[in-house]
Amino acid sequence: SVHVGQPKRIAIIGGGLVGALNACFFAQKGFLVDVYEYRADIRSTEKAVGRSINLALSFRGRAALKAVGLEDYVVSEGIPMRARMIHDTNESTHEVPYGIFPDQFIISIDRRRLNEVMLSLAEKYKELVTLHFHHKLIKVDLYSGAMKFVTEDGSTVERSADLVMGCDGAYSAVRQAMMKQSLFDYSQEFIEHGYIELETPPNGCGEYAMPPNFLHIWPRDTFMLIALPNLDHSFTTTLFMPFRKFEELTTEAQVLAFFRDTFPDALKIIGESNLVQSFLSTKPSSLISIKCKPYHVGRTVILGDAAHAMVPFYGQGMNAGFLDCLVFHELMDSLDCDIDLVLPAFTERMLPNSHAIIDLAMYNYIEMRHLVNTWSYYLRKKIDNTLYRLFPGTWVPLYTMVTFSMTPYAECVENRAWQDKVLRRAKWVIGISTIAVGLYWFFPRPTVNDYIVGFK
Ligand code: FAD
Repeated sequence: SVHVGQPKRIAIIGGGLVGALNACFFAQKGFLVDVYEYRADIRSTEKAVGRSINLALSFRGRAALKAVGLEDYVVSEGIPMRARMIHDTNESTHEVPYGIFPDQFIISIDRRRLNEVMLSLAEKYKELVTLHFHHKLIKVDLYSGAMKFVTEDGSTVERSADLVMGCDGAYSAVRQAMMKQSLFDYSQEFIEHGYIELETPPNGCGEYAMPPNFLHIWPRDTFMLIALPNLDHSFTTTLFMPFRKFEELTTEAQVLAFFRDTFPDALKIIGESNLVQSFLSTKPSSLISIKCKPYHVGRTVILGDAAHAMVPFYGQGMNAGFLDCLVFHELMDSLDCDIDLVLPAFTERMLPNSHAIIDLAMYNYIEMRHLVNTWSYYLRKKIDNTLYRLFPGTWVPLYTMVTFSMTPYAECVENRAWQDKVLRRAKWVIGISTIAVGLYWFFPRPTVNDYIVGFK
């Protein structure tokens, strides 16, 4: 172990979503911050080099943005999505609202824009924050804070810091250094499904081709298409599908036939030539889920995808990463910025919750592509929403807890298990009562006359 106490110089590895927000938090507290980002400054590059063009922002992410004063601005630049719009193969649609109250909506945000806004806010603290682009971390001493980077021209530079924060994403170099330590646990899982993104342009009049305030879903049991709106009236449409199925679609005719059969309405708005061109020129990306333990070693800690990459089906990856920043800084406040106390407290607080949301994200893929096609899903949703209306403090549906509250993720899972248990018991009570009522109505009941006759 190593004694750090109150740090002065903080190194943040990765200037992506979590790293940039983290830099804002530290700068606002008056720390000296160096952000080392492997890529170029996205504010001056043509097109963002990165995954997924837009993201769903929800309550936890908003709470973290609020803490650095960015919530209102970011929300004003996003598009509220109040419900899922489910598209059937016969081109009919129906809505499944995300919540029952007016403030229960998620927001479609431009990933690049959000990253730019946070980098610019961090950079406003000129005396405190330095952004180093084209700095790829290749080595870190977890105990001394010594780091080695490769820069754009291939040369190496060495730096050091009192606290090193690995915000360097799912393939984190900081986490790789941690993995060499004994007692560090790690597991990863690639799902068998990959994804490609297809741009859906505005219609001929420059308007949205579909209603914008929805997350559009085409659930097809073993695969699905989703679409999130962008401010320029386009949609980003993402196809999630098993890799082996992608491999079957290699010609223009195959791609078009597949879309005509499974997503006929989507094909009309994406456009045949646009679809074929994007589909055949893109390789599907993989999706990885990562669990590890602990989140800190020596004077080093990992946050965001570096600590808990998850499949994107609960729309919580970035939100959970932003929550990490918020919780870390709450612990800094409550523990007098003493890193020797903050790091273990951070691991203890976040670990069960991050593991819980990783599992929930995996489950939600089945819900999105398959369960929304089943009647039992809608029945459960009806029961949940009715009970939520009647007892809003006691019975909160799982999705609502995860997306619109700060209830720790692990507690959301426990609450849901309790709700399942209650409903299982209630099923027997409801079943027996239904049979009793049925019998009562089925067999002839004595009337007043019968009594009178009997009496006579
Ligand atoms: P990243 O965004 O990966 O950033 C890491 C940064 O570190 C990068 O800039 C990278 O260049 C840099 N870096 C990497 N290695 C090094 C190194 N060695 N040295 C220096 N720098 C380095 N989340 C949501 O909340 N809502 C959604 O709707 C949502 N949708 C998604 C859809 C898809 C298809 C995918 C794939 C993910 C989605 N996510 C969503 C998850 C979200 O994208 C991630 O959780 C989020 O980007 C994590 O941010 P991060 O900063 O931890 O990692």
